Parts: sequence; structure tokens; C-alpha cells
Amino acid sequence: MESECIFCRIVDGEVPSVRVYEDGEHLAFLDANPRSEGHVLAIPKEHITTLDELGDEEIAKLFVVVKRVAEALKERMGAEGYNVVSNNGEIAGQVIPHVHIHVVPRYAAQESRAGFESVLPVDRKAKSRLEEVGARLKIQ
Ligand code: 5GP
Ligand code: ZN
Repeated sequence: MESECIFCRIVDGEVPSVRVYEDGEHLAFLDANPRSEGHVLAIPKEHITTLDELGDEEIAKLFVVVKRVAEALKERMGAEGYNVVSNNGEIAGQVIPHVHIHVVPRYAAQESRAGFESVLPVDRKAKSRLEEVGARLKIQ
């Protein structure tokens, strides 16, 4: 528990939130500034800043929660699709430094069909260096 962290305070119940799922280690609640109706944030209760700092088992369990949320959005809200997004690090637009997964339902009535690729334009330089970067990044 980090007393300055708004999501830790939400976990503790000090700050109110609309909870949609909870178990011993996780919480999923509605984003206060929803990008669509049913926009959920899924978090581990433990204060961890970014995804890469989670253990392998912890991250797997967090994504099972994401899956439960996605199922509920389809079944209960009539979502036809959803975006799963996680901003990690200030440079990536992370505002709250407590790891969270956005699950944003998408509905037929919404005009925009914009997906993740609309967030950042194609980087031409990166496009021209695919082979080189692939070799550098290869994970054994
Ligand atoms: P990110 O850190 O990925 O940029 O986004 C943080 C998200 O947390 C935003 O979408 C914002 O609307 C949401 N948020 C910030 N403060 C609160 C809060 O006090 N309650 C809830 N439910 N959501 C919040
Ligand atoms: Zn926290």
C-alpha cells in the first residue's frame, strides 16, 4: 500500500470506485473517465508500477482477470469487441504508477473503428530497420 497512490487507496476502499470484480489479489473497477460504457481497469492489489515488474504467475493471473472482464463486457454489455491496453512508464502515457490493464469495450453503434494502430503513427525509420532490430531483440 502506497498512501499517495490513488489505486492503492481504491483497493483499500479509502477512495470510492465502482467495483466489478474482486478476489484476494486483484480488483477490477470502472475507469472514472470512460472511453466507452463499461471501460474497466484491472489491477493487482499489490503496488507494482509496470507490467515487467510482475512475476510470471502474477501476470498470468492478472490476464485471467482481464479475460473474465472481457467475457462480462460481451455477455452483459453487448460489447462486440474490446481493446486491451496498458500504458507502462511516463513516456508511454502512464499517469497512475500502479500497473493497470484497460479493457475498453467496443460497440457497433460507435462510429470509430480505430484500433491500437491509431495511437501512434508508423515510424518510418523503425520500419526500415526491422531485420536489424529483430536480431538485437531476439529472446532465447
Ligand atoms: P493511464 O495511467 O493508463 O494513463 O490511465 C489511468 C486511468 O485511470 C485513466 O483512464 C483515468 O481516467 C483513470 N483514473 C484516474 N484516477 C481515477 C480514480 O480516482 N478512479 C477511477 N475509477 N479511475 C481513475
Ligand atoms: Zn498503488
